[in-house]
Amino acid sequence: MEFDTITAISTPMGEGAIAIVRLSGDEALAIADRVYRGPGGKLLSEVNSHTIHYGNLIDPKTQKVVEEVMVTVMRGPKTFTREDVVEINCHGGLVSVNRVLQLVLANGARLAEPGEFTKRAFLNGRIDLSQAEAVMDLIRAKTDRAMNVALGQMEGRLSKLIRELRQEILETLAHVEVNIDYPEYDDVEEMTHGIFMQRAAHVKSELERLLRTSEQGKILREGLSTVIIGRPNVGKSSLLNSLVHENKAIVTDIPGTTRDVIEEYVNVRGVPLRLLDTAGIRETEDIVERIGVERSRAVLKDADLILLVLNNSDELTVEDEQLFQITEGMDVIVIINKMDLPSKIDIDKVKDLAKNRSIVTTSLLEDQGVDELEEAISSLFFAGSLEAGDMTYVSNSRHIALISQALTAITDAMEAIEAGTPIDLVQIDFTRTWELLGEIIGDSVHESLIDQLFSQFCLGK
Ligand code: GDP
Ligand code: ZN
Repeated sequence: MEFDTITAISTPMGEGAIAIVRLSGDEALAIADRVYRGPGGKLLSEVNSHTIHYGNLIDPKTQKVVEEVMVTVMRGPKTFTREDVVEINCHGGLVSVNRVLQLVLANGARLAEPGEFTKRAFLNGRIDLSQAEAVMDLIRAKTDRAMNVALGQMEGRLSKLIRELRQEILETLAHVEVNIDYPEYDDVEEMTHGIFMQRAAHVKSELERLLRTSEQGKILREGLSTVIIGRPNVGKSSLLNSLVHENKAIVTDIPGTTRDVIEEYVNVRGVPLRLLDTAGIRETEDIVERIGVERSRAVLKDADLILLVLNNSDELTVEDEQLFQITEGMDVIVIINKMDLPSKIDIDKVKDLAKNRSIVTTSLLEDQGVDELEEAISSLFFAGSLEAGDMTYVSNSRHIALISQALTAITDAMEAIEAGTPIDLVQIDFTRTWELLGEIIGDSVHESLIDQLFSQFCLGK
């Protein structure tokens, strides 16, 4: 396939000392040579592939030096897009990166659309659809952990699993085919309802397992929705600030601040949190007082985690108790703040109210206890629903939809088997499952199943 040459800044904006402007396409080397001046008149179109070169970028119009750069030359097809790729490494500042981008745009490249490099990798056959989507997730990934998930998928873990399931379905169908077409072959295993059922049950349980991971995938991409609640003045904003300052704030394209709620994205020991300070802007107002118990409950309903802040230097109040009430049954970490001040709070009462939830004591003023809080957050998260890092997560909504449909189809098949439906009719639901899973990896939706069967299993020889 032939495409024009695209370019984009391929490092995060405003981060790091070095930025990369990437070019991909047939003209990548020619465009680079128009603006590159290497030592001794070296031409990038003549250097070996996968080498890096020092030089200056010159504006051909003015002959002036624009930037000092290192240029990496990678010829297709051994590149991510399978096209010729040039990466211009320049200083990381916004101004200099933009100058380089403008220069290559003025000399024949077109600005890439979001995800267009990945799209090319797919169109040029470098990666399959689910891998392409994993890369898209990777681009959007907001934390290291989300990054690992996206990477794992990119390496094809989901693709591999889906292929295995499809193969299993295909083999089952092959047996049916043999029984229908060659009933006289007695060396072919008789496909009993029992075996059919067993295979279907296995496929079903694998699909169910994949779907269970999808919720975790969502959390990893979007962050655990974490709400900080507490009476006015207990230290909610201080807590938000220290969590943000001690942790890498996550850059997000989601608008950060709404009118009532301050929102921050942070990565706490690998746990992505979307932190919401409910009091936020209106310090003097109490959330429960303002909107009432029922509505507070509704606001908190969607939270994955509640950080309930109490003031050590005050007695417990009715409002404090109300906060415990409205967070009944949710994941809560209780924080007793202002430990640097003389204690007036009834700790035993707090323990009662907290039931078996963790209680952490802090002095946000003196920067004490934040580590313990972070520990509590990460152990709650990782001890709970998340399994070890080597499992396959499904985090793409198209994949989730297809897996759900495939699950329905295989469940239909099992019901049909149980109802004693002739096996050759059950075949239809099996085939549908196979097709739906194929759509995940962008495979052979149009190919004839029978062709597949006969190319993979040499029957009647
Ligand atoms: P919010 O109304 O719950 O958001 O509370 P803030 O975070 O705005 O804090 C209210 C006041 O308490 C501020 O003056 C903070 O400096 C102070 N504060 C916060 N944490 C501590 C602490 O651990 N010890 C002491 N002594 N003061 C604190
Ligand atoms: Zn506040």
